Amino acid sequence: RAKNQGRNRFEFFTQNLQAEIINHKRTADELLTAIEEQQFVTWYQPQFCANSKELTGVEALVRWRHPHRGILAPDAFLSIAEDLNVTANLDQIVLETVLKDQMRWAAMGLNVPKVSVNVSSRRLKDEALIETLKTLPITPGRISFELVESIFLDESEDSVTRNLEAIKALGIDIEIDDFGTGHTSIVSLLKLRPKRLKIDRQLVMPILTSPQERALVRSIIEIAKSLGVETVAEGVETMNHAEMLRELGCDLLQGYAFARPLPFDNFTSGALDGFLRAS
Ligand code: C2E
Ligand code: MG
Ligand code: MG
Ligand code: MG
Repeated sequence: RAKNQGRNRFEFFTQNLQAEIINHKRTADELLTAIEEQQFVTWYQPQFCANSKELTGVEALVRWRHPHRGILAPDAFLSIAEDLNVTANLDQIVLETVLKDQMRWAAMGLNVPKVSVNVSSRRLKDEALIETLKTLPITPGRISFELVESIFLDESEDSVTRNLEAIKALGIDIEIDDFGTGHTSIVSLLKLRPKRLKIDRQLVMPILTSPQERALVRSIIEIAKSLGVETVAEGVETMNHAEMLRELGCDLLQGYAFARPLPFDNFTSGALDGFLRAS
């Protein structure tokens, strides 16, 4: 009996694995079509000044409008996109959408000060990136690129160094995303003179209950401040977190306590409308 059970479990396992592989392969095929047909939408999550609570900007977050499965978040397809080497294409689609949306906001008389877009490491290494960016109507100071820490480990690569300089020269701000999850030292990171440092959700969440993590976040904010780098807290889920972060000196706040990522129409016609017109 025990033997039988083991065997059943094994068959169950292999069947699951097989289903997973087939599913993965199907998603990969569909993703290539999705890139070709641009089945993506860009959602926006607002960021606010910790002191004045004014809207300071938004982060653009990609969603896949899958023909059968509905709206999919990045964790359902980004790693597959990386395997297929198409994240740079995806980033380009998102950036073009953002630039169009900025024009729509302007035409509607709405003020969204700046949009941060996530840029994959593939794209930052791309030799053709600057030529591509030069063809786009980017307004200096209105777009920033969020880069994860690990990208800067590749800074020895010529294309990365050249791209970082050229990006800044185009008036695009650099933000370090998910800070605190990587292994780079804060000092070496801040030498790059990013405009902003985004403190990862994993460091932000425990600040109310853990004095150690609170001290860590306070130190990060102080070092950034002393070097003229703004700080953004991500994953701010409660107003108590927001208040603590304000006390710790954090400049900007982003998280569910204020708003979730929103599709363009909800963003402009929803609860944020007052904010957008007032600012
Ligand atoms: P990220 O850049 O760190 O973006 C923040 C993520 O945290 C978003 O997940 C957002 O919805 C979520 N979030 C915001 N506030 C809260 C909160 O209060 N609590 C919790 N638990 N989560 C919160 P999302 O939209 O699923 O995106 C996941 C990741 O996918 C992003 O993390 C980013 O690394 C990547 N990504 C998104 N859009 C793009 C893109 O256009 N290009 C590239 N290359 N990557 C992207
Ligand atoms: Mg980001
Ligand atoms: Mg982040
Ligand atoms: Mg994150």
